Amino acid sequence: MSYVLRTHTCGELAAEDVGKTVALCGWAQSVRDHGGLIFIDLRDRYGRTQVVVRPDLSEVVLERTKGLHRESVIQVEGTVLARPEGTSNPSMPTGDIEVIASGMKVMGEAAPVLPVEVSDENLANEEVRLRYRYVDLRRPSLQANMIARHRAAMAVRNYLSDKGFLEIQTPLLVRSTPEGARDFVVPSRNFPGKFYALPQSPQLYKQLLMIAGFDRYFQLAPCFRDEDQRADRQLVHTQVDLEMSFCDEEDIFSIVEGVISAAFKEAIGTDVRGPFLRITYDEAMERFGSDKPDMRFGMELRDLTDLVADSDFGIFRNVCAAGGRVRGISAPGCAGFSRRQIDDLTELARVYRAKGLVALKVEDGKIEGGVARHLSPEILNGIMSRLGSADRDLILIVADTPQVSATALGQLRRHLGKELGLIPNGEYKLLWVTDFPLFEWNPDDERWDPMHHIFTMPRERDFDLLEADPGSVKGRQYDLVLNGTELGSGSIRINDPEIQKRVMNVIGVTPEEAEEKFGFLLRAYQYGGPVHGGFAIGFDRLLAVMLGLDSLRDIIAFPQNAAGVSLVDDCPNEIDPRQWEELHLKLAD
Ligand code: ASP
Repeated sequence: MSYVLRTHTCGELAAEDVGKTVALCGWAQSVRDHGGLIFIDLRDRYGRTQVVVRPDLSEVVLERTKGLHRESVIQVEGTVLARPEGTSNPSMPTGDIEVIASGMKVMGEAAPVLPVEVSDENLANEEVRLRYRYVDLRRPSLQANMIARHRAAMAVRNYLSDKGFLEIQTPLLVRSTPEGARDFVVPSRNFPGKFYALPQSPQLYKQLLMIAGFDRYFQLAPCFRDEDQRADRQLVHTQVDLEMSFCDEEDIFSIVEGVISAAFKEAIGTDVRGPFLRITYDEAMERFGSDKPDMRFGMELRDLTDLVADSDFGIFRNVCAAGGRVRGISAPGCAGFSRRQIDDLTELARVYRAKGLVALKVEDGKIEGGVARHLSPEILNGIMSRLGSADRDLILIVADTPQVSATALGQLRRHLGKELGLIPNGEYKLLWVTDFPLFEWNPDDERWDPMHHIFTMPRERDFDLLEADPGSVKGRQYDLVLNGTELGSGSIRINDPEIQKRVMNVIGVTPEEAEEKFGFLLRAYQYGGPVHGGFAIGFDRLLAVMLGLDSLRDIIAFPQNAAGVSLVDDCPNEIDPRQWEELHLKLAD
């Protein structure tokens, strides 16, 4: 570096710089007065350098240095010297040298007491850290996360640009169109009673860009969703959003695999090469009870319906007769679980709407006790062999509707996988889940909802089923899953206004509503819409999983807290009464 205020960064000087006259700027991480010599650990985002202030400097500089508060910003001028014999610090890149100060200027004094420590140890309460985020962000781990984020973003941009994708910005003030979550809306000052919305994703605009002939588009796009805050959600997240024309699923998979590999390589230096594993939605539900299965461990679900349909155990018999399914998993080495532990598992199954959980212990090659008394030895042996159970396993069975038995066991598998330490560290299993149902039944509103969004193309061979049997129609939709976390979704889009109308009809959108909500998009396809499809990767989530972070907040510079409040600037906040008036707004009682 050769700027006026600094010649080097704090992570740069090494043995070969000994003798140089330098100027450094940074934060005084620690100031230690060793009776005569004052040592300052000077830090910037590149590293740390030891600065030594000797007593032969002017009285004024000495006084200023002694009184320096930690985390004050200073500029130091001086000479690079080798550290005295035996005092090198091999753990620091600058550990062989120190800078003997000839001058020191305070650029920005820090208050005597810091609101939070700049250290990854003994973290303060998160609310305080988020309020003083600019100090918290100085922590080495957060600095590393932001750098990894930048590198991943650049890798993604470079990769896509090399493949001919154009980064095109889409509007941030858009028409409010329900897209699954609730819109954030922005009142219009010039049009009383009218509103803009913040985009939940650039979906409609990227479709318009395809119609406009930009056959390869991408954007690192902020997406706004006014969702009730669940653990680890943000009101705004970033997507690597992309769309391409004249393509099918294979083209999109290969591009997205390239994007993910580039991000992994740049951010954490790990090779994850395509092709990624693939599984259909039906198979994922059948084997793992989840549409985002963690493939890093086994303990797969097995269907036991045929084995127990005619057993003497009434619950199994009744569920099977009613078209339900009986499924099980075998938890290795868990036969010693206490009543209490099994009750906890039952509670978990109940959260996922299971009416009950059957737990059977395998001891000495046999299943003993409880429900086993109602099942013949042939059935019990059949269950053990289908589940591949070994001695000391705990067999867990859920008999319920096909959906509930799969989901509840899938959640138990997930829970036990973590609990039992079955998940290897440092492994990344990427998986495409394909052939999703186009619709899902919404029992509360008694109607079909789109599984992804209403622009997803049904599989061609299912066109005839759209009205006759919507539940069996598969969409050309795919999700990408990393270690049990959904990283993103995409689909081939409907570019035929007739199919679009039929899909809207199934989900109960009348032609008038369709015109009102999406008229502009439907109209656009009347002027030449190519075959196209795309994908959106949740960029924050990708980084969080890659970096092994527990919280999305650790990968976002200024995140909201779990309640959706931005503490650093105390937002949402009240606005001036004049603004209410200008915006033609009144608070309802
Ligand atoms: N816009 C979609 C979403 O946000 C992704 C896509 O279909 O490309 O989930």
